[in-house]
Amino acid sequence: METMRALVKERPGKGLVLKQVPAPRPGPHDVLIRVKRVGLCGTDAHIYSWNSWAAGRLKPPVTIGHEFAGVIERVGSDVASSHRPGDVVTAEGHLACGVCIQCRTGNSHICRNVRIIGVDIDGAFADYIAMPAANVWRIDPEISLDVAAIHDPLGNAFHTVMSADVRGRSVLVTGAGPIGLFCIGIARASGASRIFASEIQPARLELARMMGATQAIDPSKDDLDKIIRAQTDGLGVDVVLEMSGHPKAIRDGMRAVRDGGEVCLLGLPEGEVPLDLSRDVIFKGVTVRGIIGRRMFETWYAMRSYLRAGLLDPTPVITHRFVIGDFEKAMDAIHSGAGKVILSLDGEKR
Ligand code: NAD
Ligand code: ZN
Repeated sequence: METMRALVKERPGKGLVLKQVPAPRPGPHDVLIRVKRVGLCGTDAHIYSWNSWAAGRLKPPVTIGHEFAGVIERVGSDVASSHRPGDVVTAEGHLACGVCIQCRTGNSHICRNVRIIGVDIDGAFADYIAMPAANVWRIDPEISLDVAAIHDPLGNAFHTVMSADVRGRSVLVTGAGPIGLFCIGIARASGASRIFASEIQPARLELARMMGATQAIDPSKDDLDKIIRAQTDGLGVDVVLEMSGHPKAIRDGMRAVRDGGEVCLLGLPEGEVPLDLSRDVIFKGVTVRGIIGRRMFETWYAMRSYLRAGLLDPTPVITHRFVIGDFEKAMDAIHSGAGKVILSLDGEKR
C-alpha cells in the first residue's frame, strides 16, 4: 500500500479535500491502524472554516481528525505483545513528550510539548494512521466501532466528571453539545442526585433529557437561577460542569454554584470573559478547575470500567452518520443542532 485516501487541509483558507496521499510508514515503536470510523469535532469544523485559532496553529498541508477507531494492521518490531493485528483500537491523540516537568510528574495531559494528531501532525481522517504504541487503546469486543470512535470526547467528559465529587450532589451542566451530553450520562451513572442542564438548542435539550438530566432548561427563555434555587433550598448547585465555552453560560454557572461549591471549566471561550470574581468566586469560596484533555491513562481506565459495566450508554448522542466522501454534509450537520457526527471509511453507513 503506497497511497491512501485522506481528508486534508491543503492550504490556508476555507475547505478540505479528500485526496490520495502517501501512506504512513510506522517506526519500530508504532502501530499501523486501518481506520474504520471517525468522529467529527468542533475543532475539525474550525479547521474547515479556517477560523483565527486554526490560522494561528495549523501548518498545511495536514490530514485532519483526532477521533477515530480502527483495526490494527501491523505492529512495529519493538511493540509489546499486548497489541496484536486484528485488535479493534482507538488512541489517545495527544502525543506527550515524556520528558518535560509535567510528563515526569504524572501530568502528561498538560505536557508542555504536546503534539495533537489532526492539528500539529497528520491525523486520523485517512485510511491508515500510525500511532505510537503507548497511545493505542484496545477496545472491548462488545463496544461498537461508533462508540470506539468517540473515546476522545467521551474521555474529556470523564475527565471532567471524575475531577469533581458528584456523588449524591446536585450538578449543573452548562452546554449540551456532545461533551456536555456525555457529562450528563456520566454524572448520572456516578450518583449525582439532581442534574440540571442548560442549553439553547431545542434538539439538544431533548438529548439532555435522554441522557438523564433531571431538568433541561433554555436560559434564553427561562430564569435558570430561579429554577435552580427553587430546587436547591435557595442554595444553588454543588457542582457546575461548564461545557459550552460561551461567556453567558460561564457567568450562569458561576451564579448558580453554591457557596463552597466546585466549578469545572472545559468549554473554550474565544476571548476573555468578564466575571464578577469577588461576588461569584472569592466571597463564595468556590473551587474553580480547568480541564484539558484526558488524564493518561486514569481517565481511559475509568471510561473502560463504566462502559464494561454498562453504567453508561453514549449512543443516543450519536445522531448522524455519513461516509467520508460526504464530509461537506457532515460539516453542515454539526452546525444544525446535531449530536455527535460519525464518518465511515469502510464504505458502509453503520
Ligand atoms: P459544542 O459547541 O457542540 O457544544 C456547546 C453547546 O453549548 C452548544 O450546544 C451550544 O448551543 C451551547 N450553548 C451556547 N450558548 C449557551 C448558553 N448561553 N447556555 C447554555 N448552553 C449554551 O461543543 P462540544 O464538542 O460539546 O465541546 C464543548 C466545548 O468544549 C467547546 O467549547 C469545545 O471547544 C471545548 N473543548 C474543550 C476541550 C478541553 O480539553 N478543554 C476538549 C474538547 C472540546
Ligand atoms: Zn511533556
